[in-house]
This record gives sequence, C-alpha cells and structure tokens, in this order.
Amino acid sequence: MKKLLLIALAGGLITACNTNPAEQAGSEKTADEFVWQTEQFADIKILRYQVPGFDRLSDQQKELVYYLTEAGMAGRDIIYDQNYRYNLDIRRALEHIVANYQGEKGAEWDAFMVYTKRVWFSNGIHHHYSMSKITPEFSQTYFQSLLNATEYNLDPKNQVAMFDQEVDNKKVNLDPNKGLLLASATNFYDPEVTESEVDAFYAGMMASAENKSVSFGLNSKIVKNEEGQLEESVWKIDGMYGPAIEQIVYWLEKAANVAENEAQEKALRLLIEYYKTGDLETWDEYNVAWVEATEGDIDYINGFIEVYNDPKGYRGSYESIVEINDFDASERMAVVAENAQYFEDNSTIMDEHKKANVVGVSYKVVNVAGESGDAAPSTPIGVNLPNANWIRAQHGSKSVSLGNIVGAYEAAAGKGFLEEFVYEEEKRERIKEYGKLGSKMHTALHEVIGHASGQLNEGIGTPKETLKNYASTLEEARADLVALYFIMDPKMVELGLMPSLDVGFAEYDSYMMNGLMTQLRRLEEGDVLEEAHMRNRQINASWVFEKGQANNVVSYDLHDGKTYVTINDYEALRGLFGDLLREIQRIKSEGDYEAGRALVENYGVQVNTELHAEVLKRAEALNSAPYSGFINPVIRPGGEGEDAYVVEYPMDFTEQMMYYAEKYSFLK
Ligand code: ZN
Repeated sequence: MKKLLLIALAGGLITACNTNPAEQAGSEKTADEFVWQTEQFADIKILRYQVPGFDRLSDQQKELVYYLTEAGMAGRDIIYDQNYRYNLDIRRALEHIVANYQGEKGAEWDAFMVYTKRVWFSNGIHHHYSMSKITPEFSQTYFQSLLNATEYNLDPKNQVAMFDQEVDNKKVNLDPNKGLLLASATNFYDPEVTESEVDAFYAGMMASAENKSVSFGLNSKIVKNEEGQLEESVWKIDGMYGPAIEQIVYWLEKAANVAENEAQEKALRLLIEYYKTGDLETWDEYNVAWVEATEGDIDYINGFIEVYNDPKGYRGSYESIVEINDFDASERMAVVAENAQYFEDNSTIMDEHKKANVVGVSYKVVNVAGESGDAAPSTPIGVNLPNANWIRAQHGSKSVSLGNIVGAYEAAAGKGFLEEFVYEEEKRERIKEYGKLGSKMHTALHEVIGHASGQLNEGIGTPKETLKNYASTLEEARADLVALYFIMDPKMVELGLMPSLDVGFAEYDSYMMNGLMTQLRRLEEGDVLEEAHMRNRQINASWVFEKGQANNVVSYDLHDGKTYVTINDYEALRGLFGDLLREIQRIKSEGDYEAGRALVENYGVQVNTELHAEVLKRAEALNSAPYSGFINPVIRPGGEGEDAYVVEYPMDFTEQMMYYAEKYSFLK
C-alpha cells in the first residue's frame, strides 16, 4: 500500500526535479542561512527545525495540520504530571517568577534560569535521559526570596522535592532491590502502592477479562481507594486529566471534519471515542484503523503511547507528533525504486546472486510539523507504531523516519566539527554544500535498494540462521556498500537525483572520516565497538583502507600533530567498495559463517586506541553538549494579506515555553 502511494506521488511531481537539479541545490543553500542552534546550557543544545513541504499542502491540509498540532499541545501538561506529581506546581512557580521578577539579576539568577530551562527541557525536575533529579545550582534561600519578591505561595513539599536530593531522586528506577515502584518518581501509582499489589491487581483483571489482548493499564493511574483497595483512575474526558483531554478532543473533532480521506477520518473518530470513554478496546480499534490509514500526506501520533516511564511497563506517556509527507524524499525514493533493476543489474555482486526481478523496499520519510508531550523538546528521529504485538502481527505497523529532525541535527552539528576534522578547505566547502544531499541519497539507496538487493543460493538458510550474531552487522554493511557504490554512479546525475558527482565525493569524505575516526567519539576509552551500525561503518572503511594501502587510495595525514583522513583516489575507492560488496553478498548468499565472523571480528570490533584517544580529546575541545532538543515552529491561521495558514519559526526557547504555559495550561 505504502509503496503504491510512493510511486503514484512520483508520477506527477518528478519532472520538476528531473529538469532542474540546480534548483534543488539552491534550496539546500537557503537552508544554510537558517539558524539551527539558538543556545546551549548545562548538557543541552536548543535547536530549531524547518517544515519543508508545508507550502505544498492545500489549505484544507494545512488546516488539518493546524488542528492536529493544537490537539497535541493541548495535552502538554499531562506529561509533566505523569513524570512526577509535583512537576506542575513547581513549573508554575518557576514560570511565575520568570514572568514577574523585577529585581537584581546576577549569577544566582542565571543559575535559576538554567534550572528552569532544564525543567522545561525534561518535562519535569528529573533529567530526561539519566533519570536523576536535576540539582539546582542556587540556594533554597535564594529561591524563597524570588517567591517572596513575586508574591507567590508554593507549598513547602514542592521545595523539599526540588532541593532535597534524597527525596524521589530517580524518575524511573529499574533496580528491583530498591523496589520498582517505591523508588520511581513517576506518577503512575499512588506513592505507597507496591509492586506485588499491582501484580495481583492485574492478575485478577486478566483472569476475568473476556478480551485478554488489550493493553491493560495503558491509560490510567493506580490509586488506593478509601477501603485500601487498588483502583484505576482512568485518563479520559470525564476522568483524570479531563480538562486537558477535553481540549484534545475539541481539536481532534475539528481535525476529523477536514480529514484527507475516509480512512483517516475513521481513525480520528475512534481516537476521539477512546478519549471520551477510556475504553482500551476502542484504543485497539483505533490503532487498527490508524495503521490502515496509509493514504494522504498528513499523519500523526497522539495518545498515551510508550511505556518506558512506567517501571512496570503498563502505563503510556502522553505524546504527540504531527507529520507531513516528505515530498522530496518520497520523490527521491520513488525514482530510486523505479530504477531498482538498473542498480541490481549494474551491481558488482556475482551474477548468480542478482535478482532477476528486484523490487525496491518501501521506506517512509516524513517532516515533523509539531511535537508535544514525551516527544518534545527532546525528540525521537524515527518511530515505529503501534506497540501492541497482535496488531503488528495481524495488521502491520507504520515506520517513519523524521526527515527534517535528522536534517536539523546534521545541520547544527556542522561547522566546528568540520573545521576540526577536515583539513582541506575545498573538501570542507564541498561537504557544506553537498553533504546533506549526500546523506539523504545514501539513506535512500541504503533503504530502498541496499536491503532489497541480492538473493540467497538455493537451499541456504536465512542470514539469522547462517550468520547468526553477525547477521545484522553484515546486512547493514552490505546496504551501506550498495549506497556507496552507486552514489558515485553518473546514472544518479542522469536520473536528476544529484546535480553532480560532487555529492558522491562529499559523501565519500564524510563516510571515511566517520568510519575510521569520528564515530569513535561516541565510545568511552577502553571500549570496543558493539553497536551494529558503528561496526558496519568501521568494517567498510577499514577494509577499503587496508586493501587500498599499496596504491595509497586512502591515507592518514598528520598536520600540526592532528590526524586527518585523506582520500587520494575516489574512483579506486569506489572499486574497493564494490569488491567488498561482492564479498559480503557472497557471504550472505552462501551463508558463509566463518568468513562473516572473520570480517566482523578483524575489521569491526577492535578500536585503534591511539586514534580513539585523539578523537575524544579533539571532540571534547569542541565543547558540544551531548543532548539536543527543539523549539517547535508555530502554525497559526493567517491574518489579513497572509496565506490561510502560516508557519513561524520562533527563535527563543524561554519565550516558547512561556507562550505554551500561557496558552496550554489546562490542568489544575
Ligand atoms: Zn539498514
């Protein structure tokens, strides 16, 4: 279904891309002037993202996007309360101070602002990633003086929560010795409820349930009633979080009225019914309808979805993502898919491993128009839903890559990093100009062609059976090599996918630098490579480096005591990528475990410790915060002389958080 959609879309739109590749390069340039990063504090970078493709939507589609983003924002307060029972009260106090404090502003004030921004970033007073309580770098006395100066009364128990590091110091505790529930701060269970009580409660519910496949406990808090028995306090329009859910429903109803098609409307109506009733069977019906709604340019995630924040894994955190089809990526993928047979026929793999009729794999890239709840400001870069296994098995799932988020990360990471690790100015400029397109083309070729290419010899088992624990690393390496081989094929330019082979040159420079050096910054000293993608990149880069050494195809060069990766012969490098592709395809087709094991163990596991230490030192000097999150764009109805709906890109994180507080504070 998805695949058909991709091709159908391409039919009408591709010509523009074919006839005018220069325009494509031009639009990449405008993106360069966009401010991707606005500030950095503590361990956090604040970034912005663009919404490409919004202008290509009809007015009704834009209206739908607007309603869906409003629906998402309406539930924003919920994630704060889910994360910790004091979060909302504390956040309100912080925001009151930010809005009203007129006094002197010195170092303690700066520390107060950093704390406040960290709370916004984490949707509460616990670190979004480490789960530990955020330590205020200002005194409680100072905080009290701010409350006094702005005439605000904050219940003392909130101050204990903020300042006493012994109290509720972990958001989610997974160490059973401390008690999963008692030692977790998340607000999914009344404070005194224990694990065994919860186990007994759900065992009883399961035993008496007619339909045992529903996601028990997904949309409620466990509370103790007056008789001391457990009870679910359900999140629905007339239940817990009712005032926020009422707003969500208000906007979802508007969205349903302007849905792009019947399937999409059906899903939205079921989601509304679920929010009204809290019925988990309706939630499943909704998910089936949502998975089956694959037509249309707009999609969304809205609900209580991921259960990582519940140490027992029952309760879903509120989340919303609004997605617009990435038209450019869809076109690229469609062109690549239409030419799948060309790539197969012209691959370097042995003839007997080529498919006679190859079909590209469908892969969906979307652009985010707005995120809320658990998905913001820190966001995923890809999503695969629904979570219920029986729905996935019977009805499938939707898997999307968030294209503009990935792009924003790449754009923001850029400058200082390139200055540090790319020696020649000419190559730096080439990566700045073509690197983004290069990485998008790599992804398209990797996903659509790479994973689809090649066939197993008759009678050979699946790679999981034959190559075992090396299967996924080798599969990723193979798909990367397909991409690397063809990104330097003049056919790519002929197809209008790239303005010139400079895109391929830029991708080769980036890939070799990353595979041999810069990816090591993500490892701690003394570690070996474990993760499949990191292993595969090092295998590909270090294998071609070694095989090309006699002819000096790639070299390490020293300048001022710093190591740089230099490609001296791009065409020869392409040939080597092709050789390795042929070999890995042979390993897969023949199920040659021994050769696969040797390749991974010899090239993909051990780290060049000297180089690793150097990379860590140089990366550290760049002083780049490890975590990033985003300022959302604002989508609003247009005023006089404007389009029907307008996208704005706010510049300031604090302003956006204060704006949200004013507009979307629906709880308590
Ligand atoms: Zn892959």
